[in-house]
Amino acid sequence: MTLPRTLGELRRSSFSEEILRTRRVKDELRDNLITRLRSSGEGPIFPGIVGYDDTVVPQIVNAILSRHHFILLGLRGQAKSRILRSLTLLLDPQLPYIAGCEIHDNPYAPICGRCRELIAKCGDATSIAYLAPEERYVEKLATPDVTIADLIGDIDPIKAARGGHELSSELTVHYGLLPRANRGIFAINELPDLAGKIQVGLFNIMQEGDVQIKGYPVRLPLDVALVFSANPEDYTARGKIITPLKDRIGSEIRTHYPATVDEGIAITTQEAWSARSAAKLVVPKYVREVIERIAFAAREDKRVDKRSGVSQRLPISCMENVISNAERRAIRRDEKVVVPRLSDIYSALPAITGKLELEYEGEMKGADFVGRELIRTAIAKTYDQYFSGANMQQIVQWFELGGEIQIADGAGAAEVLPALRNIQGLMDKLTRVNVGPKDTPEMQVSAAEFVLEGLHAHKRIGRNEERVFTAGEKQPKVAEKPFEREEGLYRSRRPLN
Ligand SMILES: [Zn+2]
Repeated sequence: MTLPRTLGELRRSSFSEEILRTRRVKDELRDNLITRLRSSGEGPIFPGIVGYDDTVVPQIVNAILSRHHFILLGLRGQAKSRILRSLTLLLDPQLPYIAGCEIHDNPYAPICGRCRELIAKCGDATSIAYLAPEERYVEKLATPDVTIADLIGDIDPIKAARGGHELSSELTVHYGLLPRANRGIFAINELPDLAGKIQVGLFNIMQEGDVQIKGYPVRLPLDVALVFSANPEDYTARGKIITPLKDRIGSEIRTHYPATVDEGIAITTQEAWSARSAAKLVVPKYVREVIERIAFAAREDKRVDKRSGVSQRLPISCMENVISNAERRAIRRDEKVVVPRLSDIYSALPAITGKLELEYEGEMKGADFVGRELIRTAIAKTYDQYFSGANMQQIVQWFELGGEIQIADGAGAAEVLPALRNIQGLMDKLTRVNVGPKDTPEMQVSAAEFVLEGLHAHKRIGRNEERVFTAGEKQPKVAEKPFEREEGLYRSRRPLN
C-alpha cells in the first residue's frame, strides 16, 4: 500500500478529514485497545508483562477505556517503564502529519503558525509525512533541575522582535519535549521529583492548552496522552505533587512484585540473557528457585530498605552471573554441557549486593554478609521444598565420622563425581530432583551439591570458604564469615539465628 503524499491525496484516502480531524490520541488508544480486547481472546493484551493479568492489566485497560491520564505507583523493578513503553502497541501503524512540522501537526487541524501559513499557501499540495508508533513515544526521567524550557519550550525575544512577531506567537517558541510528543504518548518517570513550577506548567497544558513561558502566555493546545510513574511513598507524601495536577490524573494504578516464586521465575527466564555460547545450557529448576527466593527473602528482610524495594533486576542479573560462572567452569574444564550449581550463586554476589539498599543494621554488617545470608535462607527454603521428610542421617553421619569433600566452584564434574559417590546415601536422594545415574556428571554434581548446600544451610553439616564440606559441630560458623576483622568488631551485635 502506498501512503498518500499530499493533503489532497490524504483527503481522498482512508485517512479522511471525517475520521482524523477530531480523533485524539486517547481515542486512538481506546479504539485500538477495543480491537485488541475483541481479537486477543484469552491471550495477553500486553505481551511480555508477566504476573499482572489479574491485577495491574485490568486497571490499565479501564484507564485507557476511560481516556484517562494515569500514573503507575510502584517500587523499582516492577516493570513500570516496560508497561508504559508497551502502550505504543495501541497506536496506529501510521500517523499522517504535516511534513517538516516539529510538533507533528494534524493535517486537518494544525496548531502551529508555520503549518497554518503553509496550508494557506500550498493547499492540497501540502506534503504529508508519517510517524510509526515508536516515534510517538517520548520518555523523561523527572529530576529537580528539569526546567520549563526543557519540558515545554523557550521564547527568544530577539528573534521575535526581528521577525515582527508578537512575543506570544508560536513562531518564536523553541519547543521542549512535551510539544514534540504532540499526538503521541509522553511518559514522565518519578513525577514527584519535578519542581512545583513545572508541575503547574504541565497542569496548564493538560487543562487549558496554554502555558506561560518567561511570563508570556503561549497558546499550545497539544494532544498528548500523559502517563506517569512514581514511588508510592513519594507520590502520596504531602506537598510533593500539586493538588490540581493530582486531580487531573484519572487513575492511580499500583504495581507489585511477583506474587509467587513461579511468576518470578517466568519473568527472570524471559529477561535474563541466557542464549549465548554453543555449549548446551541446562539450568536446574532448584537453581532458578533459589535465585528467585533471594529476592523474596530480601523483600522481607528488615535489614533491607522497604521504601526502595528490591528490584526484579536482582534475580535477573544474578541469573546472568550464575550462568556466566558455570560457563567459565565449562570452558576451563572443556565440558559440553553448562549446568549451574548453587556455588555459582555465591559467586554471583556482585550481581546481588549492588541491588540492595541497606538499612543501618544491614550497613553495619556489610552488603556481602547480608547477601550471603539471603542466599543461605533461599537455599534452606528451596531444600525444604524438595527434601522435607527425607532421611539425611546417613549423609550427616558420613561427615561426623570424619568424611570431608571439597567441591570448588571451578572443579569439573568428572573430577568431583567419584568422591560424591563415596558419600553413602547421597546419590540415591537425587531422585527427588529427577536426577539419576544416567544423567550427565554435570547434572549429578549440581544436584548432589544442592543436597550438601541444603544441609549446610540448615547447619547440619559445615562448610568453609574453600568449599570443603565437613561435620557441623567442629567449626560451626567459620564458613559464613566474609570479613574476619569486621566480624570481630561487630560480634556482639550479631543476632542469634
Ligand atoms: Zn505545525
